[in-house]
Amino acid sequence: MIGAVDIGGTKIAAGVVDADGKVLARNQAPTDPNRYDEGIRVIASMLRETAEKAGVEISGIGIGSTGPVDPIRGEFGDVDFLPGWRGKNPVKDLTKIFNVSVALENDGDAAALAEAGWGAGRNRSRLIYVTVGTGIGGGMVFDGKLYRGVDGAHPEVGHHVVDPAGPQCSCGFRGCWESLAAGPAMVAWFESHAPAGYPHREGITAKKICELAMKGDEVALQAVEHEALYLGLGLANLINLFTPDAIVLSGSVMKSAPLFLDRIREVIRSGCRFVPSEKTQLTLASLGDDTNLIGAARVWHYQFRQ
Ligand SMILES: [Zn+2]
Repeated sequence: MIGAVDIGGTKIAAGVVDADGKVLARNQAPTDPNRYDEGIRVIASMLRETAEKAGVEISGIGIGSTGPVDPIRGEFGDVDFLPGWRGKNPVKDLTKIFNVSVALENDGDAAALAEAGWGAGRNRSRLIYVTVGTGIGGGMVFDGKLYRGVDGAHPEVGHHVVDPAGPQCSCGFRGCWESLAAGPAMVAWFESHAPAGYPHREGITAKKICELAMKGDEVALQAVEHEALYLGLGLANLINLFTPDAIVLSGSVMKSAPLFLDRIREVIRSGCRFVPSEKTQLTLASLGDDTNLIGAARVWHYQFRQ
C-alpha cells in the first residue's frame, strides 16, 4: 500500500493507493504557498488519516508535484507557485516521519507513469502523455523509462512555440502551445470574437464553451474549431519529433475531446508527411480525475520496484 501525495499550486491531495493503482482513500487540503513545514505536517496527517480509513499500513510514499522538482535529490526547485517550498526536501522529511522509502517526480511525469503502467498507455513502447487544462503539461515514457533531460530535468511540452506572433507566455516566449491551446486561451479567443450583445459572455469558461458548442452555438463552434487547430498543431509537432506509438490525452479540456478529435486528426494528416503519423494513436486517459494521485503512487513503484 503506497501513500500518494499530489502537490499542486492551490491544493494538496493525499491518499492510499493499492498495488493495482486503485485509490482506497483520499483527502485534500489547500496549499499554503509560503509555509513548507505546515505543508509537510498537513501531508503527514492526511496520509495517516487515509491509511487508517482504508485499514492499511503505508509501505512507501510517492509524490507528484507541480514543478520544477529535482527527482534525483528529492528537492523542490524554483517552483513559481510555492515560493516557501523552494529547495526543501520532502523525500528526506517524509522518510524521517514515516520511516519508509519516498520518491518524488514532477506531476506530469507522475501522471505519464500512471497511464503507462496502469492506464491507457499500457503495452505502448513509446508513449507521450499530454494534459490540457489551465496549462499544457505532460511526460514521456519510452520503453518503460521516463524520459529525463540533463540533471533529471522535466521537458516542457507546453512551451514549444507554435506562433511567434501569438500571446505572451510566462516562460518568456510568445505563442507557446500552452498560450494558444490551454483552456484560458480558448476563453480569451471566445471573449475577443463573441459579437456585441452575445448572450453567453458572462462567466464563460472552457467547459461552458464546449457545452454551448455541443448545442450548436455558432461562436462556440468557431472557438472549438480554433482550439482544435492549435491542439492539432502542437500534437503534430510531437509526432514529427518523436513518432510515438500513442499520445494519451488528459486534462479538463480533453473531457470534451469528441468535439476536437476529428479536426485534430485532419491537422495532423495535413502535415506530418514524412513520418507514419497514422500509426500514432491518439487515446484518452483512462484513470479519471485521480490520475495525478495514482501517478504519485506510481512514482514510488517506478523508483523502487523496477
Ligand atoms: Zn511558454
